[in-house]
Order: sequence, then structure tokens, then C-alpha cells
Amino acid sequence: MHIYQQPWFSKIMHPSRYLGEEINSIKKDPSNVEVYIALAFPDVYEIGMSHLGLKILYHILNSQHWLSAERVFAPWVDLGSELKERDIPLASLESGRPLSEFDIVGFSLQHELCYTNILSLLDLADISFLSEERGSMDPLIIAGGPACFNPEPVAKIFDAIVIGDGEEAALSICRAVREWKLDGRKSRFELLKRLSKFRGIYIPSFFKPHYDTKGIIQYLEPLIEGYTGVEKAIVPDLNCYPFPSKQIVPFTELVHDRFTIEIARGCSRGCRFCQAGMIYRPVRERDPLEILRIAETGLHETGFEDLSLLSLSSGDYSCVLPLLKELMVKVADRHVAVSFSSLRIDRIISLLMEEIKKVRKTSFTIAPEAGSQRLRDVINKGLIEDQILDTAREIYEGGWNLIKLYFMIGLPYEGDIDLKSIVELSKRISRLAPKGRKGHVLNVSIGSFVPKSHTPFAWLPQIELEESKRRINLIREGLQSHRVRVKWNKPEASWLEGIFARGDRRLTGVLVEAWQQGARFDSWSEHLNLDIWRKAFQRHRLDPDFYLLRERGHDEILPWEHINPGISKEFLLGEWQKAMKGEETPDCRKHCLNCGVCNGSNIAPVLFDSRHPFPPAKPARHSKASAEADGQGEAGRARALRAGMPAVLPRDKADRHERAGKEEVTSQSKESKEKVKRYRLRFTKLEKTRHLSHLELVRLFIRAFRRAGMDLAYSCGYHPMPKVSFALALPVGVESLSEIMDVQVKNIQDISLTIERLNTELPSGIRVHFMEEISIKAPPPRIKESNFHVRIDGFFNKEDLDRFLSVNTFPVIRQRRNGDRTIDIRYLVKDLNLLSKDELELVVRHGIGPEMKPAEIIKEVFTLPDSQMEGIRILKTKDVHI
Ligand code: SF4
Repeated sequence: MHIYQQPWFSKIMHPSRYLGEEINSIKKDPSNVEVYIALAFPDVYEIGMSHLGLKILYHILNSQHWLSAERVFAPWVDLGSELKERDIPLASLESGRPLSEFDIVGFSLQHELCYTNILSLLDLADISFLSEERGSMDPLIIAGGPACFNPEPVAKIFDAIVIGDGEEAALSICRAVREWKLDGRKSRFELLKRLSKFRGIYIPSFFKPHYDTKGIIQYLEPLIEGYTGVEKAIVPDLNCYPFPSKQIVPFTELVHDRFTIEIARGCSRGCRFCQAGMIYRPVRERDPLEILRIAETGLHETGFEDLSLLSLSSGDYSCVLPLLKELMVKVADRHVAVSFSSLRIDRIISLLMEEIKKVRKTSFTIAPEAGSQRLRDVINKGLIEDQILDTAREIYEGGWNLIKLYFMIGLPYEGDIDLKSIVELSKRISRLAPKGRKGHVLNVSIGSFVPKSHTPFAWLPQIELEESKRRINLIREGLQSHRVRVKWNKPEASWLEGIFARGDRRLTGVLVEAWQQGARFDSWSEHLNLDIWRKAFQRHRLDPDFYLLRERGHDEILPWEHINPGISKEFLLGEWQKAMKGEETPDCRKHCLNCGVCNGSNIAPVLFDSRHPFPPAKPARHSKASAEADGQGEAGRARALRAGMPAVLPRDKADRHERAGKEEVTSQSKESKEKVKRYRLRFTKLEKTRHLSHLELVRLFIRAFRRAGMDLAYSCGYHPMPKVSFALALPVGVESLSEIMDVQVKNIQDISLTIERLNTELPSGIRVHFMEEISIKAPPPRIKESNFHVRIDGFFNKEDLDRFLSVNTFPVIRQRRNGDRTIDIRYLVKDLNLLSKDELELVVRHGIGPEMKPAEIIKEVFTLPDSQMEGIRILKTKDVHI
């Protein structure tokens, strides 16, 4: 039985997180699957599903017919407790297969604060925490993600850890497991030995660290001959791995609820505090033509109304402006808003703004990181104050009401004068906002700097917790204005993150201890409890300050010394020296700085020619490089572009591209002439979709309409919305045979075909069974009364029912945020009939004042305990509308 069918499931918060079977999720036929891998994300669904790496791996792995990649996320504490209490094993969303029955469980480690959740997932799956405690029949427990660049604090948990890009490495692991299984799962040690031969795969049990009396690593002993270190896995050219367009469309709203395309990986700027900028080198851009194709196909396949172009520094993408212009031509008419994950401040930003605001003004964040010029030079931010102010002015003048600013405190060599500069700079920016704007015009976010492995600041101490609080307060006090809102990350979280970011293997014991004492969801401020952690450190006789507050010597063996991200230690130490002098290191797109990553052959920056990103269909002239590109597909084209040649589409593809453009223009101009019409739909909401909230249902329909090719009419104004209205919001947990909604659309020719098409885009349980055109001026749908069929485990007391029906009023007090409210449920209930001992029919009036959910009415009338309410099933059978 799936957990959503359990009677107690109705009381779980955000149930739509756990339903599975979302549009575009992949469920394989078990008879064809040879290897099962669970992609485990140690945080909640909304965060995990926003993560790019999960989208990429899910599709790459599932593209293999013999492999099933399924998702599992950390259940929130309420569901975690229910599963534990009822001894229900944690299972995947796709097949409901228990995690312990997978061949591989692969964790995504995005940051260090998710480590206790790894243990929670393993515990709920009844899998032993430590690698050495697991045997051949247990799943292989692996990890990947940026936190793995110092894997040591969790090294004892994992059998294998992917360092670097996961595309090829994850597939190699799955292939090796497939062969190992075919071979009879003989020796787990032999499997690990085989995995250790792949680039980027770290087997922690093949190394043994030795510590001196102070706790510093004396030497790291390799236990397998010839296996002395791990070079990061790298995808030299992203264009060799097609980016997924058929991305899963979730029921629940995600943290980043949009269609995303990774336009580039790596960053060439060299900000000295940024680990991602160091470990993901060199910069590798995706072909702009491919990005256009993915955007067009993906938006059609998902129905998303937002498109985000992702990379560490999206504004640095060589063809960013032509790409954005081309995208806007294709998506603006469909009301798709485009945003960038991160934009640097430079001259191009105003041009990008002009394009972005054609649909909707997506938010703008400026990240000066430091307030003073001196400190921005220390961190190699490459920004001067005039640039920041000019950009802020342009954003406000462009019509944006709010700017977000991001700063860090605790950067190396920071003093109070730098903090005061944050205050001054923020005030200056807020004064640039037009005078008449109401409310706050500036959001200032403050994060505490955490030195990370493989960066120029990896040797430096982190500031103390109390000092972090003092520095944050200094900024808060300086920015007490109704126009500026200051937000900050809890410094306690940075304290814990800092310990694990540069920790060693001895921390695994502390981690397990803290988990046993109740540490969970440490990245959620309401859950982080440092007392638990301090006690765990004491119990294991480890001093947190050893990891946090100590400057490491240049010659010290760091816990991650055997993990090679390509960038050399000499380069990082040199950058530290330059930081002390405030010297600039230029962007390595223009001039290679020999950081050690590129190898002069296949590993090199992949950049596209910004002058010719969208070439005419006919290539003007063929040189050797462009001829090679023409004939050899994506990789050849990428090579040609690296060689400085204009990108040339293969002939048939170019024709298709041109034809598609023309067809689109023709169909758009035809559509724009079509009149907006209004339709009324009736639909069911049954089975698992009863757990969707009203807002989730609205979003689901809008995206289904878009996927079905319906050209929705939009409202005008700052944030145009599709013209869709529902008669009533059905309470979560209630099923319905008949719901009503209205939608305004331009291009419907045949109603029955539209219903058919629409139903293929809706999840099972939701079916449109009636649709008719109504007057565009008709009033919105209004329901006078609804009939519900109610069933419980147990029986209804007839005396309770008679008592209720015999009175004229039945006042019930409801506690609301703005005070108590009395509702007369006798007046709300038009009829209440017992059909059998455990079934009844309830008829409720609407539109006569404050309402109550049918479940609440039943609970009050029959004074049912919570335990009996858990098993209640309510089905709306019909309604009467005005
Ligand atoms: S080797 Fe040169 S081009 Fe390659 S990432 Fe390093 S600095 Fe940039």
C-alpha cells in the first residue's frame, strides 16, 4: 500500500510532496530493469526537486533501458516519525520500492548541513550507517555533489564517493554494479576495487589517516597499491550530454519552481571565497542553439511559465544577449518569464533588463559580497562602487521596485570599517529608488563566510560565533530604515557548516552521536540545536575550535589533500598571497592563469562565439573547422566554435530551425487574431489527487492547459495571470466527482478534441468530463450547495445525528489568527442523512457566511476523536450552482 492510502496520511503536512507519479516522472517496467538506483536527496522534496544535478542524473540514468533511477527525499519530521513508529520502510516515489532493496543509493551532498538527514534516511530504510557494517546484499551507498570535495567527515558512511561531474561517473558505477550482479555479487571488495579505477571515484575505505597528538593528520596511508589519490571527474564538453527537456512537473510548489537550463558550468572569474568557482573549472558553455531547442521543447513538455538560465555567473555566458533576445522572441507570446540564476554587474545588465521585462520583472539580486573596495579587492570580486550604484540606478529606473543585495561578513581581513561600508553602500543604493515608492525598496541579505576546501582561504580561520553575531548586529543597527529590510543567515548554521567543511574522519562519530541525540534538518533554523552538537563534541573529546578557529600551516596535510580538483595548491596559495595585497586576478576567459585544471588537450574552456550564435541557414564558407562541425554533430560544432569559427548548423537541422521559426510566426499571428472565448469545465478530483491543495490544483491545470497547446488569455498589469477561475476551493483530502472552473482561451476549435488532449496532460484522478463555451461576460461560477458522501472506520451515532437535526442553531467556535469566530453549523447544513452505520450524506450550503470543511462539521456533530477522523473518506458527489 502506498503511504498516501494510509488512513493517517491525511494529517501529514504538505502531502503532495510524497505522492509521486508527477507529469514526466519515469516508471520502468520491472521485468526490463537490471539495476535499481535511488537518487536520495537529504532534504525535503521542494528543495531536492529544485536541484539541477538531480534533474540531469535522473534523465541520463533512466535513458538506459536496464537501469531504473528513482527518487527519494527526506521525509519531514512528521512523516519520519509516522514511518518509524509504524515500522514502514522508506520507499522511492516511482515504484514504492523500499530503499534497502535498491542496488545503489546515491546521496546528493549539496552542503554540510544535510549530514544528519543522510543518517535519518538510512535509519528509515534500516540500512547500517557505516560502510564497514554493510555486506554484499546491502545497497551500495554512494554520494556526489560539491560537499564531496572534502568527503572526510562522512567518508566512513559511504562505500564510494563521486568527486566532480556526475554524468559519466554515475553511469560507470551503475554499469559496474550491473556486471557485478551478473557475476553473482561475489565480493564487495572486488566491486570497490573496480570502481576505484574510474576517474573521479573515491573509495574512502582504501585510505587510512594517521593523526599526531594534536589531531593534525600526520600522513594518509593508501591501503591499495597505486591508489594514492582521486582526480575529479570532468565532462569536457557539456554538449555531449543532452540536457533534459522533459523535466518533472511537481504537484507541490518548489523553492525554484520553473523550467531550468544549465547554460554553462564553471566560472572563470576567480572570486577567492567561492568554492564552486574553484572546483568546477574550467568554464564550459552549452551551445546556444541547443539551449534554444531545450527551452522550446521543455516549455512545451512541462507547461512551466518561468524559465531560468542557470550557471555560476549567467551574465558571463558568451552569447547571453543574443540568446536572451532569441528566447524572448520565442517565449514572450506564451507569457514565459525568463530569469538568470546570477548576474554580475556590468554594462550588459541594462540590455538584459530590457528583454527580461517584456513578460514579467523577475527579481534582481546584486552581490557585491563586501561593502568596501579594499575588501572586494581582497576577495577578487572585480567590482567597483560606481558600477554597483550605476546598476542599481538602472534597475530602479527600469521599473523594478525592489533590489536584493547580498553581502558576507567574516571575510578574511575584514574590520568594522568594512562592515560600516556595507551600511553606507546599502543606504546609498536605497536612496536611488524613486521617492514615491511605498514600502521597502532594498532587501539586504547577510551570510557568514565559511572557508571551504580547495579555495585560497582554505587555510584561514573562520570567525567565532559571537563575533559573527556582533558583526551582523552592527549592520542591522546601521540599517534601521523603513526602506531597507535586513535578513541574515543564522550564524549558528555557519558555525556547524564551518566545522564539517574542513573536518576530518573523526567527525563521523560526532555526527552519529548528534543524530542519536535528535539532530535533524540542521539547515532549517527552527531545527538547528547547537547544544546537541556541543555535547556530541564533548563526548567524542573533539574541540570544534580546532576545525574553526585555527590557521593551518602551508605544509599541513589537509584532510582533503588526496582529492584533486585539478587546481594546484601553488595556485591557491598564490591567490592567498595576492588577497593579502589586494591584488587582482583577471578573468581566465581572456588570459589563462595556469591554475592547473586545463590540460592543453581535451580539458579546456568551451566558449561560443558571441558574434554568430544564431547563424543564417546557409553557411557562407566552409573552412576545415566549420566543415568538421557540419559533419560531426554537436561535439564537432563545439570544437569549431572553440577554434573561433562561426557555429554552423547541419543542413537539415538549419532548415528545420528556419522552418519552425516561420511556422511559429505564422501561427502566432493567426492566433493573435483569434478572439478570446470563455469555457466552463467540469472535472473529477479523485484518488491521490485529493491530497492536492487548491493552489496546487490551479497550478496543475494552468500547466496542463499550456502542455495541451491551449493559448490562455492573461490579465494585464505588473504580474499578468492566466484568466482561470474555480467555483470553490475543495478542502485537501476531499475527493470530488464534479468540480467547476472557467478558463479564457483563444485557440479552441473542437471541444471534444480539447477534452481528449487535456486529459492526457492531467494526472490520473483528475479528468475533465464536460466543457462548454459560455458568454465571455458570464459571472464566475458560483456554487449554492454541495452534496458529500462521508464514510468512517467505525459507526455514526444516530442519537448525535438526531440531536443535531432537532436544534435550530449549533454554534461552534473556531480559532482564527485574528480572533475567535462563532459559526452556526446547523444553518450551514441543509441536510444530513445516515445511509448505513458508517456512511452518510451531507448537504452543505455555500455563500451564506463563514464556511466549515465537511470533515470539521462531521467531527463536531458526532464528537469524533482525532483517531477516528484519520480514516474518514469524503467524496463530493454533486453541487448546485447559481
Ligand atoms: S587552466 Fe587556465 S583557462 Fe583553465 S581554468 Fe585554469 S586559469 Fe582558467
